[in-house]
Amino acid sequence: MIFLKTEDEIELLRQSNLLVGRTLAEVAKMIKPGVTTAELDRVAEEFIRDNGAIPTFKGFPNPNGTPFPASLCTSVNEQVVHGIPGNRSLRDGDIVSVDCGVLLNGFCGDSAYTFCVGEVSSEVKRLLKVTKDSLYLGIQNAIHGKRLGDIGNAIQQSCEAAGYGVVREFVGHGIGKEMHEDPQVPNYGRRGTGTLLKNGMCLAIEPMITMGSRQIYLEDDRWSVSTRDGKCAAHFEHTVAVRHGKADILSSFEFIEEILGDKSI
Ligand code: MG
Ligand code: MG
Repeated sequence: MIFLKTEDEIELLRQSNLLVGRTLAEVAKMIKPGVTTAELDRVAEEFIRDNGAIPTFKGFPNPNGTPFPASLCTSVNEQVVHGIPGNRSLRDGDIVSVDCGVLLNGFCGDSAYTFCVGEVSSEVKRLLKVTKDSLYLGIQNAIHGKRLGDIGNAIQQSCEAAGYGVVREFVGHGIGKEMHEDPQVPNYGRRGTGTLLKNGMCLAIEPMITMGSRQIYLEDDRWSVSTRDGKCAAHFEHTVAVRHGKADILSSFEFIEEILGDKSI
């Protein structure tokens, strides 16, 4: 069942999502060779709680019943999503996808950004740029009267044209009082098909794009998802409200990119 949000609810969702953006900016300040993903997680959790919110990922169960142990997902290089923060130190040339979710005033925020650690190859930077651009191409289709397949198709077409893989097993989602609501929002699809988009639908759109094959596997920790071929993957996510004429992006990369400056992708 898809819940359409009222204007007041959309503003609450915006507050939650802006907090996610500001949390990711705190993470951005720390990204450099030598930092561990556990350190990123500790700072993020503290920032979320200091702002009166709850990290929604912490304790979130997966289909195996294993609760997620941290506040951020930190997925390094070949990890696509759901990487568990730990004592892995980031190294010069790595990329790390950081996904963050909060619950504030009863509404969820969810957004993700892939960061470069030190100097990253131009090949990998291109993966990040194409993935981020595809997110905005998807968002351009999150308007009243279009269909879900229009969002997925825009993402898929642009990423596959660049020679990349589009992960099928994990998708975006509706968002509101719950982090994951209906509908599912695939990053692939056919134009003009799928659920009709309506003003007030709130969606987390999140392309997960691989440099090589789109085949993935679940690591032994039962959470981390990695590419089978070991090639890098990128993940960018915004929460948006479907509107007449133009989507309203409720999350923000502005805080992050203020920190990254001319190192922004
Ligand atoms: Mg997310
Ligand atoms: Mg999400």
